Amino acid sequence: MHITALYPGTFDPITNGHSDIIERAARLFDRVIVAIAANAKKQPAFTLEERITLAREALTGLSNVEVCGFDSLLADYVQQRDAQVILRGLRAVSDFEYEFQLAGMNRRLAPRVETLFLTPAENYAFISSSLVKEVASLGGDVSAFVHPKVLAALENRLR
Ligand code: ADP
Repeated sequence: MHITALYPGTFDPITNGHSDIIERAARLFDRVIVAIAANAKKQPAFTLEERITLAREALTGLSNVEVCGFDSLLADYVQQRDAQVILRGLRAVSDFEYEFQLAGMNRRLAPRVETLFLTPAENYAFISSSLVKEVASLGGDVSAFVHPKVLAALENRLR
């Protein structure tokens, strides 16, 4: 059986925590689709096109990973892309409640799709896109948390 996992998120911008999850998933599933939500409500720092470009740059070399953008209901998009799995990352207990709600809602909307969770290596467990942006905007060194191309983009955008 050919299994496709779709990893949705805002990826504003992609961090090494996201990439760690994606590398793990690329070893488990035949195909991984990194699906970047337009998510205008969240007022992202980077446009959808910028987030897609940065993710593609950060993930070069992973041959079964594809990056795309979407602007529709996740439950519909997963089925449209013939994915059997929604993949999400869990960092800490604080992620659990929201992720549990989301998984329940998506099961109601797309009963044949399973939500699976992966945890990152422990040195990535405290990284979030929002914290990386905050530290970078105040001049802190975030080079250990993001790909060099993402670092350059953050420096351009936030300083
Ligand atoms: P969203 O706005 O949907 O939460 P994010 O881009 O912030 O989008 O995150 C996408 C997914 O990746 C979420 O499941 C989130 O919990 C997970 N994630 C984010 N950062 C990390 C990290 N450092 N390690 C593991 N998972 C992460």
